[in-house]
Parts: sequence; C-alpha cells; structure tokens
Amino acid sequence: MSAYCGKYHDELIANAAYIGTPGKGILAADESTGTIGKRLASINVENVESNRRALRELLFCTLGALQYISGVILFEETLYQKTASGKPFVDVLKEGGVLPGIKVDKGTIELAGTNGETTTQGHDDLGKRCAKYYEAGARFAKWRSVLKIGPTEPSQLAINLNADGLARYAIICQENGLVPIVEPEILVDGPHDIKRCADVTERVVAACYKALNDHHVLLEGTLLKPNMVTPGSDAAKVAPEVVAEYTVRALLRTVPAAVPAIVFLSGGQSEEEATLNLNAMNKLKGKKPWSLSFSFGRALQQSTLKTWQGKEENVQKAQAAFLARCKANSEATLGAYKGDAAQGGLASESLHEKDYKY
Ligand code: 13P
Repeated sequence: MSAYCGKYHDELIANAAYIGTPGKGILAADESTGTIGKRLASINVENVESNRRALRELLFCTLGALQYISGVILFEETLYQKTASGKPFVDVLKEGGVLPGIKVDKGTIELAGTNGETTTQGHDDLGKRCAKYYEAGARFAKWRSVLKIGPTEPSQLAINLNADGLARYAIICQENGLVPIVEPEILVDGPHDIKRCADVTERVVAACYKALNDHHVLLEGTLLKPNMVTPGSDAAKVAPEVVAEYTVRALLRTVPAAVPAIVFLSGGQSEEEATLNLNAMNKLKGKKPWSLSFSFGRALQQSTLKTWQGKEENVQKAQAAFLARCKANSEATLGAYKGDAAQGGLASESLHEKDYKY
C-alpha cells in the first residue's frame, strides 16, 4: 500500500503547505507545565495557571505579530484557555490567520543498556487524543524525539527506535487530521565539531524518512523540525554561512523533496544567532526544494520574557520585543534579515541548557 490517502488527505497537504508559507513560521509555545515553570522561575514569577495564561496572552495578542506566524504549538492546557476578556486562544489565532498546533508526546524515557539515551512516549492513546484536539481546533501536532552525540552515541538502537516512534506518531496524526511535525532533535551538548554533527544529522534524518515511508506517511502532509548543523556547545562557534552550508547539505542528502517545509528548532542558540543562521540558509544559492523556516521556542521568547518580568506595566515593552523577533525571523525565511533586531544585548544571550527537556 502507498502513502495515506484517507479523508484528510487534501486538508493535510494544504495545511502543511500553509505553515511553510515563505515569510511565516512557527512559534513553539508548548512548554510543558514543568518547563514553563523553569522559565517563570527565571523571572521570579510563580508557576500557576493564571501566570502561564498571562504569558501566552501577551504573546498571542501582540499587535502585528501574527502576520509573521503561520502556526503556534500549544500545550494541552493552553488549547482550552482564553484571554482575560474571555476569547478562546484558538479563536485569537484563527482570526490572525494562524493554525493552532498541539504537543502530543509525553516526554522521554531512558533506554536500558545505553549511556542515557532515550525514546519518546505517548503512543497508547494518541489516536483518541488527536481526534479530541482536532475537535478543539488543532490542525497540526508536535512530537519531540531526542538524540545525543557522544563517543558511541547515538546508538543504532536509539536511532531506529526514535525513527519508528516518530513514524508511528506521524501516521496516527494524519489519520486524525493533524499535520505531524517530525522532530528528531540532536542535542547540541558536547565538544564535537560541525562535521560530526552533520554526519549524525544525516544518519538520523535518513532513518526517519525510511521509517516514515515504511509507515505509509503522506510526506506532503508533514513538516520536519530538525536541529541546525552546528559545532557542539563545548566547541568554538562557526559563522552563519558555515552553519548554512552544512545544514542545507545534510538536509539535501536526506529530506525528500515531497516535504513542503523544514522548520528549525533553536536548540539553545541565542535569539540573534538562530535568526542569523536561518537567514544565511535562505541566502545560500543552490537547490532547495522545501521552504526553510523556524519553529523556535526559546529563540522567540527569551527577550520578551526577560522584559516582561511578570509585571503588567511591562507588557507593552515585552510585546515590542516579541514583535521584533517575529519580524526578524520572518525576514530570515526570505534571506532578507539585516541584523537590526538585536535588543540591548538580551537577544545575544546563550539559551543553552544541558540535557534539555521540553
Ligand atoms: P527551542 O527552539 O527552544 O529549541 O524549542 C523548540 C521546540 O519546540 C522543542 O521541541
């Protein structure tokens, strides 16, 4: 049998293509309750529902920001939340021309006999949850698999298991009308050089597409969310043009042209670094059969969060910071970013956390 051709076939293709519209990208605002708690703790704000809601409202209601965004990934709690004035977030997004998305994985668990490698959980009731989220307005989903680079990592076991897990998740999403974002994140942790990252990225992404094809996933109705190819966090940095060349080459070798868009995670890069790297990829001459865009979490929110500090009187300034990052990344999807969005040093802060959990 060939790729998925059920009742959502045309809708999946249309939604995936829409998310990949040049000039637009994804805001990843799907931090789990634990992860958002760490963010809020960094500005001394308590991790309670009202504060989580206030932060998300600040982001989604920034005037002028949604024109640069085609999708927002939500955590389950946020999918059902409303603005202070009572409007469901899902409606705010839809009216702004933004597709609501939903994180559907249930986190990672360690693989016995490996050096701390993991697989991602959440398949058991996934079909039912996807149907419920579609009903609530979600049109795409995210599932994060995590791999790491070490002397003997990633192991073949971790590569195979995570590729298979992503493919099983992807077809279940499609059967329920959600465009799956396939996210095999290779952590930046370590002293390795960019060549090793390229090598590992090629092996991992190639395994993912073998599995996606084996599971009859409709590639035109998917998105890939990879790491950029960079040196490890304990190695010297390289110029955006070098990151661009290695990243695009690794993806050309492994991502089928049927995939409409590749939306990068920021993975602990500073806001400005992530934008400059994306911009360099889009400036690069040569064959690029998919659009190259962003699905940033930390790199879209950090200066906003730091400016907000949980205080009502800072909301406007924080929204200005968010708008600046959205616009900068939109320009980067067109290779037209001039480097003018750096905000008083905040945008250049490294956002790297070792062994990052989302
Ligand atoms: P970062 O951009 O902060 O790496 O997160 C994106 C994301 O959604 C990870 O799953």
